[in-house]
Amino acid sequence: MKIHKLRAVLLPMVMALTAACQSTLSERHLTQFKPGAEQACYDRDTQPYTFVVDAHAHFRPFGGEAVPYPELIGYFQPAGVLFVNAFGIGQMFSAQSGCQRFSVCPTGEIKPTIRNDIINASNALLHPNTDVHLTLSMSFADLSEPQYVAQKMALLDDEFGPAFTWMGEVNLVKQALFDHSHRATPPQRIDDWAPFMARLRAPEGGRAPMPLSIHADIGSDQAPTKYLHLMESVLARYPENPIVWVHMGLSREQTKLDPQLHIAILSRLLDVYPNLMLDISWRVLYEAYFRHAAIREQYVAFFNRYPKRILTGSDFVAAKGYQQRDYKREVEINSRINQYLNDEAFRYIALGQNYFDLMKLDYQAPEVCK
Ligand SMILES: [Zn+2]
Repeated sequence: MKIHKLRAVLLPMVMALTAACQSTLSERHLTQFKPGAEQACYDRDTQPYTFVVDAHAHFRPFGGEAVPYPELIGYFQPAGVLFVNAFGIGQMFSAQSGCQRFSVCPTGEIKPTIRNDIINASNALLHPNTDVHLTLSMSFADLSEPQYVAQKMALLDDEFGPAFTWMGEVNLVKQALFDHSHRATPPQRIDDWAPFMARLRAPEGGRAPMPLSIHADIGSDQAPTKYLHLMESVLARYPENPIVWVHMGLSREQTKLDPQLHIAILSRLLDVYPNLMLDISWRVLYEAYFRHAAIREQYVAFFNRYPKRILTGSDFVAAKGYQQRDYKREVEINSRINQYLNDEAFRYIALGQNYFDLMKLDYQAPEVCK
């Protein structure tokens, strides 16, 4: 065989082999997050910048069918995600509305429901897995009707044992659903959360306090801080509860908030309330904010200043029809900001140390290699 022919045969083989080696090298497994002297350091030059914790994944859609659970569970590990919060969704088309899709029901009524939580917990029982660490989250709570929340928590605990260790995402105010009969939670109702907030702080069975992920729009582009007082009331009333403010209060209704003002608000609240954390999930944050270098720099500096207060997530909604590549894309887009973090922030945020600390899990983020 002539030399150039040999090269033509061998080169693709060598390249395929190299690619295969690189992909196994960069593959993540739970064992890499076990504490111990033999834990290898994390090389940011050769290993992925994508987050290892998806603290914001909706296993259930607003209506219609979901990606079948056994299929969905298989999406995470290949995407480098090993720790997942299984949210239902804070609200679904009500049974009475007869609706399943936004496209056919632009104003169909949407309400919190316990259906998703029962389905998720049943699926987790039916399909145990060892590739990912799953945190079941109760998503049913209607913050405007708090009188039933503690009772329903007890019902889920009775049915599933102490399987649920998180609550959310629940809606304090979500303007995106105003066309669907959702309203901002009346401020006077927040006092009535006391029984369920107490149960979250001290769940039965010796579980760690259950974090509460709250969707609370800060405002809109027309009225930048219109709803901020609601989240402030919650924090002032329940400073001992671990609360996760999802999307840092941003939304599609607010894509032009001045980063300096936003960061000033968040810094002030993080300083006053040590149990407050922020979740930086949702591609809107990338599209409207992090994508722009001048804005991104401000947020990176902010995250580096508060490395222990930030959680990662995709905000993927597992509606039937979505596939593994769709999930992977959400993980990648929501992880781009991680590339710019300093090593300490990268370890706490992207490698999951904040999540392990919050949940008191027996896992540990590897040190970043020097
Ligand atoms: Zn969400």
